[in-house]
Amino acid sequence: MLRAAYQQRTWTLPADAVVRHGTAEDAARVLHGLTFTVLTGAGISTDSGIPDYRSPDSPPRNPMTFQQFVADEAFRRHYWARNHVGWQHVRRTRPNGGHLALAALEDRGIVRGVITQNVDLLHEQAGSRKVIDLHGRSDRVVCLTCRRVISRAHLAERLSALNPHFLDEVLDGVRTVTDIEVAPDADAVVEQTAHFRPAPCEFCGGVLKPEIVYFGEAVPRERVERAFAMVDDAGALLVAGTSLTVMSGLRFVRHAAKAGMPVVIVNRGETRGDPLATVKVEADVTETLTALAGALAR
Ligand SMILES: [Zn+2]
Repeated sequence: MLRAAYQQRTWTLPADAVVRHGTAEDAARVLHGLTFTVLTGAGISTDSGIPDYRSPDSPPRNPMTFQQFVADEAFRRHYWARNHVGWQHVRRTRPNGGHLALAALEDRGIVRGVITQNVDLLHEQAGSRKVIDLHGRSDRVVCLTCRRVISRAHLAERLSALNPHFLDEVLDGVRTVTDIEVAPDADAVVEQTAHFRPAPCEFCGGVLKPEIVYFGEAVPRERVERAFAMVDDAGALLVAGTSLTVMSGLRFVRHAAKAGMPVVIVNRGETRGDPLATVKVEADVTETLTALAGALAR
């Protein structure tokens, strides 16, 4: 009943009421009385210690492509060596106030669900129940031959057994693993990887790959359709912490705008969805989501 009441409200704000440099209060005014789906990106996890390699002040970085991973054994060795180090950091990360604010809004029936471009599972850890991990999840590994899925934690044990001194040597001289550059996909910079022994699939000997959608790979169609359905299920779309550089996220903003839903964007820096936003809040994601949840609770 609550949901029906929320969705009966139609959007009537005239075009000249669009807010380009909004605040959390402006966002709350637009979202008040509506349900909304949330689309999140790396910017929501930076306060949890996972760097956003697309943010304006991040160094340029060439993301790995799926084709490189499949074609080149030396590349895969290098990849898994760095990933083994990065995982030590990622598995310890915890959700921040932004993740918690969205989970609280879901509890109150206001947030319909979260579509995230992140693979860090921090929304799930924060207590969000309806989460679509658009680009996969860093806690699972899939065999490219037999398609069996194992946990990343289990693979960590196998990699440590195959490379007993590797982590000690890499971490020698740094205080904690967070001193090493850690990228969003648990890819840390490690120079000496030539002797690293990656683990083959224990069932068929095939090549293992994190269950993450890499550049050059498509998001599974069924997952995309569930995400569109989640957008359609709400009265508005909130975008947080993504510059919408890749079409896999931008298409949901276009879809919502085309359907006449208000779109609120919270991000430090320009996004490709800005021309479609009803309100754009250019500010800290954690602070803004916390303030927004507080304002909607009033
Ligand atoms: Zn296999």
